[in-house]
Amino acid sequence: MTARHAVAPLLALDRVTKRFGAHDAVVDLSLDMRSGEILCLLGPSGCGKSTLLRLIAGFETPTGGTIRLDGLDLTGLPPHRRPVNMMFQAYALFPHLTVTQNIAYGLKGLGRPAAAARVEDLLRLVHLEGFGDRRPETLSGGQRQRVALARALAREPKVLLLDEPLGALDRGLREQTQGELRAIQRRLGTAFIIVTHDPSEAMALADRIGVMDRGRLVQIGPAETLYERPATRFVAGLLGDVNLIPGTVGQAEGARVRVDTVFGPILAVAEGAPGAGTAAMLALRPERMAVSPLGPAVAGERNTLAGTVEASIYLGDRIRLDIRMADGSTIRANLPVGAGIESGTPVGLSFAPEAATVVAA
Ligand code: ATP
Repeated sequence: MTARHAVAPLLALDRVTKRFGAHDAVVDLSLDMRSGEILCLLGPSGCGKSTLLRLIAGFETPTGGTIRLDGLDLTGLPPHRRPVNMMFQAYALFPHLTVTQNIAYGLKGLGRPAAAARVEDLLRLVHLEGFGDRRPETLSGGQRQRVALARALAREPKVLLLDEPLGALDRGLREQTQGELRAIQRRLGTAFIIVTHDPSEAMALADRIGVMDRGRLVQIGPAETLYERPATRFVAGLLGDVNLIPGTVGQAEGARVRVDTVFGPILAVAEGAPGAGTAAMLALRPERMAVSPLGPAVAGERNTLAGTVEASIYLGDRIRLDIRMADGSTIRANLPVGAGIESGTPVGLSFAPEAATVVAA
């Protein structure tokens, strides 16, 4: 199949840049989004996530690049003419209006009976039937969040932009609301772009995660791809605990590549084809390693490193081992509870080549 047959993206950003004075908030950013998708933009504070949402919403004008929705160039269209809507972090509900009035606010121009029916639909969608006459201050945080969502969905945007939508909720409610948000999105099929700086939230919500770093989109893909095959050490570290072992890329061996490290040669997976002699890092997740007392059968095997357990820490759902290596560095391994190994034990750490990913140094 050629690209001609591919489904056209709903939203297409092409080389979008936004500069504030001398500061590049968004740099040369391209991405496509499908209808019905949840895309989470993940990254540390100041990486440009909110600016990107504001560019799509039309509150900011790009310095360069184009934004298209259903093939239509949005440049020059004011926010209210764009088939997108934004739900703000602080909810911004009108305190003096009832829930129904808050939701209906966006429906002016729709006749009264039609607006009333639409509000009823929306209340049902967010499970707030019977709450229409209440004022926001009489609702819980989670209920207010759902009113804000209903209001943002009232005009049936093709893309809903959500900036830290669950940021004000405490942890338990946050997890519950993540599930509700996803269920509502699935029922509607509206594309959602959700900004968050919380990796576990992005993993719980997203069909794809776009990781941003200093204005750039560094990697985009399903959570599993980003976790298992991070493109950079920044992505590797953002999504979870990771061991980074420096080395030099050696020969390709089939689909694997040999990386020469201070611990000897290690077989790993490399996306793309890093040239032999290139400096690189191996990213290795702590839970992808087997640890066993070091014996002659273990020492010297491929992808087996020797070290000594320095600390063995019980964390309830796992045992964390800090293993001191011969070069003085520490490697972390997570083992199931019950499989702990005492401090001071010489061990062999082994892993499959698929557990180690080559990332740029
Ligand atoms: P946070 O998670 O803290 O909201 P963010 O990733 O959403 O961060 P942005 O708000 O997009 O980051 O900001 C990106 C960069 O652009 C920051 O350095 C910010 O100071 C800068 N910036 C954003 N808006 C403006 C503006 N109107 N004028 C000047 N600089 C701005």
